[in-house]
Amino acid sequence: MSLHQPQQGAPLLDFARALDFAAHKHIDQRRKGVRAEPYVNHLSEVALLVAEATEGKDSVSVIAALLHDTLEDTDASYEEIERLFGEEVVRVVAETTDDKRMSKAERKQHQIDAAPTASNRAKLVKLADKVSNLRSMAASPPADWPLSRKIEYFEWAFAVVKGLRGVNPRLETLFDRAYHDGLAELRGEGV
Ligand code: ZN
Repeated sequence: MSLHQPQQGAPLLDFARALDFAAHKHIDQRRKGVRAEPYVNHLSEVALLVAEATEGKDSVSVIAALLHDTLEDTDASYEEIERLFGEEVVRVVAETTDDKRMSKAERKQHQIDAAPTASNRAKLVKLADKVSNLRSMAASPPADWPLSRKIEYFEWAFAVVKGLRGVNPRLETLFDRAYHDGLAELRGEGV
C-alpha cells in the first residue's frame, strides 16, 4: 500500500496526515484579528468541534474540518486532496469552499443560499467554522473594523447558520452561545 493513499480503517493515520498537510499548506497564514493567531489554531478548533459533535464517530467529517480552508486559501488542488484523503473527504471540502470567481458580496449571499442544501457533513463543518469565526471575532477582532462591521458579520453568520440547523443540536447551541456572548462582548456589556 502506498504511503500516500487514504487508508481504510486507519482514521488516526488519516487524521495525523490531514493535520500535517493543513499545517504546512497554511504555514504563512494568520487569523485577521489583533492577536494574529496561527491559522492552524482555527483548523484544530473546527476539527475539535466537529469531533465532539459527532462523538468521534465520523473521521471523514473531522478530516474535512482540518482541510476545510485548503482549497480556498492555499495552493492545494481538488485532485491532490482526493488522492491523499479520498473522495468523501474532498467532496465535503469542496462544499465548504467559496468560489473565488464571485465578488465578496456574491460569495456571502451564496453561503446563505447554499446552506440548506449542503450535505450533512458539510453542514457540520460549516456550523463549526461559524462557531470558531464568531469566537475569534469577539476575542480578537480585526483592529480596523468598526463595531457596525463586526455586528454585520455576526448577523451574516446567523443568516448562514439558519440554513444549517437541524443536523446537530449540540453545535447549534454552541453557535447560539458564541453569537449571543460575542455580541454582548463586542458591545461592551460583558458576559
Ligand atoms: Zn474556516
